[in-house]
Amino acid sequence: MNVRKLLAWYLEYARDLPWRKYPTPYNVWVSEIILQQTQMSRGVEYYKKFIEEFPDVFALSNADEQDVLRLWQGLGYYSRARNLHCAAKYIVQNHQGVFPEDIAELKKIKGIGDYTASAIASIAFDSKAVVADGNVIRVISRLFYIQEPVDIVLTIKTIKAHAFLLMGDHRPSLFNQAMMELGALVCKPVNPACSSCPMIDQCKAFASDAQMTIPVKSKKIKRSERYFHYFFINDSAGSFYLKQRTNDDIWKQLWELPLIETEAEIKLDVGDLAEFLPLNKITIANPSFIARKLHKLTHRDIHASFYRIDVHGLLNETEGFVIVTQEQRRAYPVHNLMKWGFEVIIPQY
Ligand code: SF4
Repeated sequence: MNVRKLLAWYLEYARDLPWRKYPTPYNVWVSEIILQQTQMSRGVEYYKKFIEEFPDVFALSNADEQDVLRLWQGLGYYSRARNLHCAAKYIVQNHQGVFPEDIAELKKIKGIGDYTASAIASIAFDSKAVVADGNVIRVISRLFYIQEPVDIVLTIKTIKAHAFLLMGDHRPSLFNQAMMELGALVCKPVNPACSSCPMIDQCKAFASDAQMTIPVKSKKIKRSERYFHYFFINDSAGSFYLKQRTNDDIWKQLWELPLIETEAEIKLDVGDLAEFLPLNKITIANPSFIARKLHKLTHRDIHASFYRIDVHGLLNETEGFVIVTQEQRRAYPVHNLMKWGFEVIIPQY
């Protein structure tokens, strides 16, 4: 991929942000910390006030913490201000007020993680480091049509590797800021302005019309719990009821024993059964509990209980149910949980 068009675009359209005029390590650092949790317009306003009051690391290190916090009022996340103040003292005491260029050394400073260290090193010192903020992650994912979830470490490593190769011999400060700016202004999360994008000819997501599906996030699947109670209602001739699942639900069209579903793990008694099962006009004994099974499906856990009810006499024809012998049962396709149930209830099958 060729990034010349991107860099040219940046030089023409980049926003006039105050820290861009004099991108000293101190200015880049303060701007990055302020912007961590703050909208750009608000961030610019606070940045200007902050730099006016504390124009360099010495001024900040000599400040009273209360004055730093007062200036921060309204921005929230005050630990950022405390860390800035504390880090300024550290830089003055340990580095004579000169920011280290080395990323590992930068990361020893309070409040500076991998992202901020890479931003300071590349933007202020032109060190060859990739800055992978949310904007860059989105742009790279789309340019290379990366379909793996971006909230896992391995994908971020892949994205950084792509960005690093793309940077090539271009100036890291220019490249990183251009990527961030493209993500902020053009390659937005929703409705990216692809027709204004300098990378449109090279964008794989655009070529596949997949801009809106990239980047991908891992789906946090909430498992649901269901409680099924199956009844093997067995008459004197050895026949029993089966029912087909017809609702828009799992196992549609497959057959199973009469089922009562409850919202929790409860014990049903014979009074509950008459209401839901085809038991009228027949003499029944109490159901006897046979077995329980936790059946795991992709998104849900089925807590299944199997009961047996022995009927004296023959079963009545009942709408919605078929009466089958153990032999006839084989003609009715059943799901795996039911297969397991039959093996437990009717071991000879
Ligand atoms: Fe983003 Fe569209 Fe540009 Fe691709 S073409 S990088 S999706 S703005």
